[in-house]
Order: sequence, then C-alpha cells, then structure tokens
Amino acid sequence: MKRRAVFLPMKNCPHRCVYCDQGAITGEHSYPSPDHVRSLLGTEDSAVELCYFGGSFTCQPQYIQEQYLEVIKDAPCGSIVRFSTHPLCMNRDLLNWLKKYPISMIELGISSLDNHVLDHCNRGYRAQEALLALSMIQDTGISACAQMMIGLPDQSIQSSIEDLQKLAFLKGPKDMTLRIYPCLVLKNTRLEIKMREGKYTPLSFSKAVLWAGTLLFHALKLGFHVQRIGLQETGSLNDAVIAGPHHPSFGEFAKSVSLVLTLLKNSPYGPWGLGKK
Ligand code: SF4
Repeated sequence: MKRRAVFLPMKNCPHRCVYCDQGAITGEHSYPSPDHVRSLLGTEDSAVELCYFGGSFTCQPQYIQEQYLEVIKDAPCGSIVRFSTHPLCMNRDLLNWLKKYPISMIELGISSLDNHVLDHCNRGYRAQEALLALSMIQDTGISACAQMMIGLPDQSIQSSIEDLQKLAFLKGPKDMTLRIYPCLVLKNTRLEIKMREGKYTPLSFSKAVLWAGTLLFHALKLGFHVQRIGLQETGSLNDAVIAGPHHPSFGEFAKSVSLVLTLLKNSPYGPWGLGKK
C-alpha cells in the first residue's frame, strides 16, 4: 500500500525537545489544513496509508483530530491512517474514540526510558508515563510503534538496552514496532547551545552505528519489528545538521553490525555463510 506522509511540524507538542526542529528536518514550516489533505487524497486511485508525522497528533483538541481523521473517509476504499504523538497525550477514552477510525498504527515518541535522559532532553514526562501510554495503546488492539533514540545527552548504550528490555516486558507476546533514530545536532536548537558550551558531545559515526546495530540485534532477538533505523534523508535535513552521526545510509550500516553480531552468535568461530540475497 502506498504511504502518503503529511507533516504537522511540532504541532501541539507540549514541550520543545532539546534536539528537535521538525521544520528543519522535513522542510515543512506550516500545517496543511484538513481540507488540503482531503484534496491530496482525492487524487489517489487506490488505497493509501495516510501518515501524520512530525507533531503530537493527540495533543491537538479532539475536534481538530477529528477533522484530520475524517478525511480518510474520502480516500479510496481500504485506506488507513497512522500518526505519531507524545506520551503525555494518551488516555483510554481517547483511544476508545479513535477506534472508530481505521488506525493502522500509533507511533509514540519514546526517545528514552531513562528519567535522567528524559530530563536532559526536556521531554516533560517520566519513563513510567511513556510505558503506561504504550500499554494503553496495546490494550485497545491498535498496533503500537515506539520511536527510540540513541546518543541523547547522558544516555549510554547500556541504558538503551535496558529500555529495550522494559519495552519487551511490556510487549509480551504481542507485536510491537520500533524506529531507532540517532540524535543529531540541528542548527538553532538547545542541543546546539549545549554542544557549544561543552555540555554535550555528539556520537561519532562509528560509535553510533555500533550502538544502533547492537540495539537492532537485541530488538530482533526480543521479537520486535524494526521499521526504520536513521532519519529519512532530505535536502532540508542535510542543511540543518551541524554535528552528529548523519549519513544517508545509516540504517544499512547498523543492519550490517546486527548481521555480524548474529553470525558471531550463531557460530563464534565461523565459517559464516550468507544466502545470495
Ligand atoms: S521530538 Fe517530538 S515531541 Fe519533541 S518537539 Fe519534536 S515533534 Fe515535538
């Protein structure tokens, strides 16, 4: 199914996270109206997955959410919708109301489940609140995706692996999807100031690839589906990044690390064989 991404840069985010500038990442600096989204979908000839990304979808007043969700009724038959949102804007009443729409997935920005890291990033919630939000999504039967980050201020690879274990415990035998993003330093963010003051050192590319690849290796072992590693490369992202492990093929490097770890686990001394594919 085709995906149609609609960016709502930092729309209704309860806090400005220190590393974030969605406008710079996506190149979008305004919000398309629901009517505009409807007109975009009107040109489709087959079912699409409409994706609202870049903001905190469920932090919008409910009547605005409704306007953005209602447009799916004018999309070709079988179309579905997903969105990303903030852990502080999740409750059971809202989820029950959302169930009347064909929601394919709710992506929750988790970043980290380490309270020190969350404080350094100005995320504005405790790890326990993020876990509760995820478990509420899972309880409704809507697919959940946790967006994790690596290389955040005060974060270590060990704390990332512990985050993964907490998520695995919460997931149980159910499905859960992950995205893994490296922390990049963007222009005009508080992270840029921290870096210039010597209070933050971005990860080198090789450390970030090892970290992400190790996380992927453990995530696959724990039964997660990993949808993406690394940010979508765009011209605007390229212009905005001033430091950090930025590479258009970041995900491929991380997958290579994970593959090597898998081969070593299966056969520590070789020989190692790979299928042609
Ligand atoms: S990281 Fe997410 S919650 Fe934080 S400001 Fe950016 S879009 Fe909003």
